[in-house]
This record gives sequence, C-alpha cells and structure tokens, in this order.
Amino acid sequence: MKRIALITTGGTIAMTKDPKTGGAVPTFSANRSITEIDRLNEIAMIEHHGFSNLPSPHISPSLMWKLSKLVDSLLERDDISGVVITHGTDTLEETAYFLDLTIKSEKPVVCTAAMRSIDELGTDGPRNVVSSVRVAINSMAIGMGTMVCLNDEIHAAREVTKTYTSNVATFDSPGYGPLGIVDEDKIIFYRKPLQRETIEVKQIEEKIALYKTFTGDSGQILKSLPQIGFKGIVLEAFGRGNVPPKVADTIERLIKEASIPIIITSRCFKGRVLGIYGYKGGGLQLEKAGAIFAPGLSPQKARIKLMIAMGITKDIEHIREYFLHSKGGQK
Ligand code: ASP
Repeated sequence: MKRIALITTGGTIAMTKDPKTGGAVPTFSANRSITEIDRLNEIAMIEHHGFSNLPSPHISPSLMWKLSKLVDSLLERDDISGVVITHGTDTLEETAYFLDLTIKSEKPVVCTAAMRSIDELGTDGPRNVVSSVRVAINSMAIGMGTMVCLNDEIHAAREVTKTYTSNVATFDSPGYGPLGIVDEDKIIFYRKPLQRETIEVKQIEEKIALYKTFTGDSGQILKSLPQIGFKGIVLEAFGRGNVPPKVADTIERLIKEASIPIIITSRCFKGRVLGIYGYKGGGLQLEKAGAIFAPGLSPQKARIKLMIAMGITKDIEHIREYFLHSKGGQK
C-alpha cells in the first residue's frame, strides 16, 4: 500500500456551525474528521500533518511558501508517494498555483476542499478527500504538477478557478476543461498540463498589488499604489489587454519614473492577452511603454508568479523573461 501525506490547512472542510452565531467556523472536531474518513485506510497509508486550521482568506503568501517547503520535504522521502492538501475553496487556486510553480518533485500533489461543512446535509468533504487520495496514488498522476480535485474532477493548478460562490460544482478550468475525472474508484486522465513550469524560489516579494481597472478610470488609485509601498502591480485590464486612456498614461509614468513592473492580465476568463490594439490605452501602447503581458494567466495567478519572480529580481527586463518564457509565451 502506498503512503500519502495528508496536510490539513483549514477551510469549510474543517468547519462546523457555531451554535451561537449560526456561522461556520474552524473547529478541532471537523479538522480531525478529515483524518477519520473510513474508506481512506483501505486505499493508502495516511500520514497526517496538521499545518493550520485557517479559513482560506487568512492564507498569506508567506504561508503558501511555508507549505511549499513542507510539501517539498515530504516528497523527498522515498516512502511518501504523494501529498493531499485540504484547504478552503476561496483562495485554493492561489495556493495550488504557488505549489505548482515551486514544488520540484514529480510526485503528485493534490489539493482538495469542501463547499459544505461536515455538519451540513450532503457534505462533499469526505468524498473529495477519498477521490484526491485515489488521484495521489495513481501512477498517471506523476508529472502532472499540482492538481485540484473536487466534485469528481481533476484540474491543473495553473488553469483552475473557483466559479460558483455556493455550488459544489464550483471549480472549473475555463477554456481548458479538467485534466481528468474520478469515476467511482477509477481515475481517468484525458490530457497533460503542457504549460506547467517550475521556478526556484529564493524569497518572495509580498508587496504586489492586484488592481482592476474600470470604465472612466482616471488612474488616480493606480498612481497611489507605489506611494503606499507596493513594488509591483498586476493590472486586470479589459479584453485583449486594453485600458482607459488615463490609465495608460499612469502605466507609462509608473514604469518610466518609478521602475514599477506592471503585469497586464484580462478580466475575460478565457484566452490570452496580447498587444494588438493601437489606439490610446490599447495593448500595443502598453507593450511599448514596457508593460509585461501575462498570456493565459488569470490576474490572481499572475500575482503569484510576480511575487516569486520579484523574489529573484527587481529588474523589469529580467521579470519580463519569467512571463515570456512561460511555454507558449508572448511572441
Ligand atoms: N470561506 C471558506 C474558505 O475558503 C470557503 C470554503 O472552504 O469552501 O475557507
């Protein structure tokens, strides 16, 4: 029987309803119940590691990095075949992508969660954990990077996002689809995540802002970000990577005068950003101004990558290489 490390970090899967407030909160009993799922011991030898019991909006980039180091050290062990991590669904995609970029091992890393706590009717937690352990022991999962497994689907960390606030079928990979599915006790993979890459982390730069532009944006808020300490900015633009005219002026100034790296992403959740529009605020102008395009990455994933890249270099041209060199990069 294979040995799987099960790391618990918190989330709804480790919560129960507080009788006083009626709100779901992290509890010791719910966290313990993850490790007591009957079926688990029939599938693999489970080794539990309690990392935290936090709602995922409390997970910070430094905790992601600490988790990455723990996963790395567990996967170095010959007796461990893979790692399953339970996490809150809200920010799961960020932690999963951080792990995907930083874990060197080819052994499977599977993140899972629940939309319904253990005391709710139709709780999805136990099934998701059992499915994730099945994925982690499957030989086809080797080399797939970090995956997210919920609701009988397996998604690539780079592509997956939470799409539904309440439904158990919340995780999806828009424009890509799942890597595979869980069909009872069978794991069926349909494809490999060919865009997967890893970066050696030296340290991380946490002061990275995520800024969403809007119609009529004067650029004032964007301009203030370096003044309050942000060292890099991921900008959620429109469509192919276009912004209102005054925002384009601000971008130009921030790059030229303050050497702030600005990463262009889109509020569209499918497709790639690219400088094809030549009008004022169009992507071509942003490209000429030195903005860096992050094709195929959601704004929140681009922020994770920039945090890691800026831990290595503060030089805009060097940072650009991390985004250009992503497979199938800009040009
Ligand atoms: N708010 C919860 C969290 O992310 C949601 C969940 O786990 O489903 O911790």
